Amino acid sequence: MSKRDYYEILCVSKNASAEEIKKSYRKVAMQYHPDRNPGDKSAEEKFKEAAEAYEVLSDPDKRARYDRYGHQAFGPGTGGFGGAQNMDDIFSHFSDIFGDDVFGSFFGGESSRRSSGGKRPTGQRGSNLRIKIKLTFEEIANGVNKQVKVKKYIVCSTCGGNGAKDKSSIQTCSTCGGTGQVRKVTNTFLGQMQTVTVCPTCNGEGSTVTNKCNACKGEGRVYGEETISIDVPAGVQEGMQLSMSGKGNAGERGGMPGDLLIQIEEEAHPDLQRDGLNVAYDLHISIPEAIFGTQVEVPTIDGKAKIKIPAGTQSGKIFRLKGKGFPEVQGYAKGDQLIHVNIWTPQTISAEEKDILEKLSHSPNFKPQPGKNDKSFFERVKEAFQ
Ligand SMILES: [Zn+2]
Ligand SMILES: [Zn+2]
Repeated sequence: MSKRDYYEILCVSKNASAEEIKKSYRKVAMQYHPDRNPGDKSAEEKFKEAAEAYEVLSDPDKRARYDRYGHQAFGPGTGGFGGAQNMDDIFSHFSDIFGDDVFGSFFGGESSRRSSGGKRPTGQRGSNLRIKIKLTFEEIANGVNKQVKVKKYIVCSTCGGNGAKDKSSIQTCSTCGGTGQVRKVTNTFLGQMQTVTVCPTCNGEGSTVTNKCNACKGEGRVYGEETISIDVPAGVQEGMQLSMSGKGNAGERGGMPGDLLIQIEEEAHPDLQRDGLNVAYDLHISIPEAIFGTQVEVPTIDGKAKIKIPAGTQSGKIFRLKGKGFPEVQGYAKGDQLIHVNIWTPQTISAEEKDILEKLSHSPNFKPQPGKNDKSFFERVKEAFQ
């Protein structure tokens, strides 16, 4: 079959300007647009033909080749396009010509494009679901998998989500013929225009259910429970939110499920405190321990650690356990554990202890002698948290 001349298809002369070609294509495309000629195969062919002609003539390079060699310029059997013509491709350059706004209002935009191919999602999308999970410091430090039972809408297992009693109860919507859209022709200054709206009978689903599923009363979902496996990455913090796409409430009649939003809560640790990536610990030692030195076991987020307290340790001294803090959620940094030394002053003492201490209090070694090298408590804290 011989191909028609591109200029002829677009009803323009061989020396038409780019502007004239555009204008003419617009007119031809509108005339043969599938929305205005439902079910008319020859109109659809003409529509595709016009798109092909425009593709070539709107491109100065291709147009020049076409002018010289005719259809042979693009090889036998093909047009200016590489292979089969897809309606979606044609629609995509509609927006170039008419602008998305105009395109949307003339042809129904997205919905018009969707009806030209592919499966339209049916029912209502499910809503997002929010839950909170409480994590211990240990779980946060290492990351954890939590199996959480969530009460939510789940897809009805009786009908598989379509809401119908059986297959024969699902019928193509008679109002829209299954497209989910209704078209209205209006007169505008540009001529007759179509507006496309969601079908009021089926709400855009394209089908109606005559006999509803008993288990879900036609909704396609039931209120139930699902155990969800949540992988919590290491290093999360109080107030952070994780999201799992599609794990929220099931949609109605096969609609997309919502998302599951998981808010992180930190369980207070009996001994440790969190400060960003760092962990703080208050260590209490006795006066003799501070004087003689000692070895103590301290809790960390990763089991116990032994540390040496040297003889003559002052109250307020901060020891640092490198890398014993929290990891960054995304990244390689790791915090430290900071051990703050407190020397315990007895609240009650016996008469005998009092005697000993009174003797000691006159000893020059017990007189405070802070040297120039002994930084103040506040300076040490500032330094430790840098
Ligand atoms: Zn059901
Ligand atoms: Zn309908």
